[in-house]
Amino acid sequence: MTFHDFHFEAKLQEGLDSMGYAKPTPIQEQAIPVILQNKDVIACAQTGTGKTAAYILPVLHKIIHTDHRHLNTLVIAPTRELAQQIDQQIEGFAYFTGVSSIPVYGGGDGATWDQQRKALDHGADIIIATPGRLIALLAGGTVNLDHLKHLILDEADRMLDMGFFEDIVRIISYLPKERQTLLFSATMPPRIRQLANKILNHPVEINISIAKPAEGILQQAYMVYDPQKVGLIKHLLKAGNYSSVLIFASTKENVKKLDQTLLRAGLPVKAFHSDLEQAEREDILRAFKSKQINIIIGTDVLSRGIDVEGISLVVNFDVPPDPEDYVHRVGRTARAETTGTAITFINEKDQRKFFGIENMIGSTIPKLPMPASLGDGPPYQPEVRHKKSFERKKGPQRGSSHKGSSGRGFRRR
Ligand code: AMP
Repeated sequence: MTFHDFHFEAKLQEGLDSMGYAKPTPIQEQAIPVILQNKDVIACAQTGTGKTAAYILPVLHKIIHTDHRHLNTLVIAPTRELAQQIDQQIEGFAYFTGVSSIPVYGGGDGATWDQQRKALDHGADIIIATPGRLIALLAGGTVNLDHLKHLILDEADRMLDMGFFEDIVRIISYLPKERQTLLFSATMPPRIRQLANKILNHPVEINISIAKPAEGILQQAYMVYDPQKVGLIKHLLKAGNYSSVLIFASTKENVKKLDQTLLRAGLPVKAFHSDLEQAEREDILRAFKSKQINIIIGTDVLSRGIDVEGISLVVNFDVPPDPEDYVHRVGRTARAETTGTAITFINEKDQRKFFGIENMIGSTIPKLPMPASLGDGPPYQPEVRHKKSFERKKGPQRGSSHKGSSGRGFRRR
């Protein structure tokens, strides 16, 4: 499945293409069609699963089809940081569409408050708000929600933990009864159910619960520049005493290249990819199980279904495309309560992706120093890289983005 299967408006698809989104994540596959059908949704999904795009893309598609005269969508999020992140994602997706969004959150100085109010005076299609600030705006009559079509609650469990239950109920009292409501939460405690019963109308339930890697897996990572990867894998394979090793690379071309390089270095590896006949693949797996082969290099074809006891090391030569693949790959080691090691090589381009994986599994994976002979790798700065590469790709002059004096962009209609 690709994003083209949703038949999004061309300008929205253009935004997706320019952000490099090709394949929907499981929550996106499940939620987008339901949201396009105007149904209410209650979804259990953690950060890192792609939940933001899951709710915002169908909403953007619908906004493009309506006239833009009224505030259309309200996203409520627990923190300023999350509100800003959601706004940045919307800015990327909506870049070519003319749809505008404004984040409103507390905690800033008077200038931020004025800037938010001014931006609201200009009107917007989407507001992303923290509950406290939104209540203040509603009480002051700055925001009119009479024509709202979509209400989205993001990280609802966290909002309740922070004591926002009453605020949310109060905000909802300002909204039209006839609207679509989408509730996203990482967990489903009874209070979320209670809130859902109050505010959702016959919701479709979606549950994306991704297993986390087993306790027995020692997870580690190295920050690398691409040319350092081969040297590092050779070092690990030669220095460590691993009885059976799986190495994952992103494409079968990379698998074949790495296979040749390691064979030339005298390492007894075997490549495993979709160009091989089924019988050849079965032979390789059989030889691997009986320890005649110790090292296999493969694509994600390998990560599902291979049930071999006692794999001691899994190496992600490239960061896997999504968090679920990561869990499947590293889950090949430490099966049946044994222990194992999973090591990921992170180049500069993949930092953001890896950060998404850490978010999803809820822990920070230690970054080990490079062996001295290979030199230092890049620093781990996932947030910085993402912003830079995004701005480079688009260029500020191509769309209607307007940066205010604070550097924070409010797009106007
Ligand atoms: P979220 O769970 O919404 O916080 O998203 C986690 C990260 O995954 C964000 O950096 C998104 O930009 C990214 N992401 C979400 N969906 C996709 C996708 N289909 N393809 C590539 N990246 C994605």
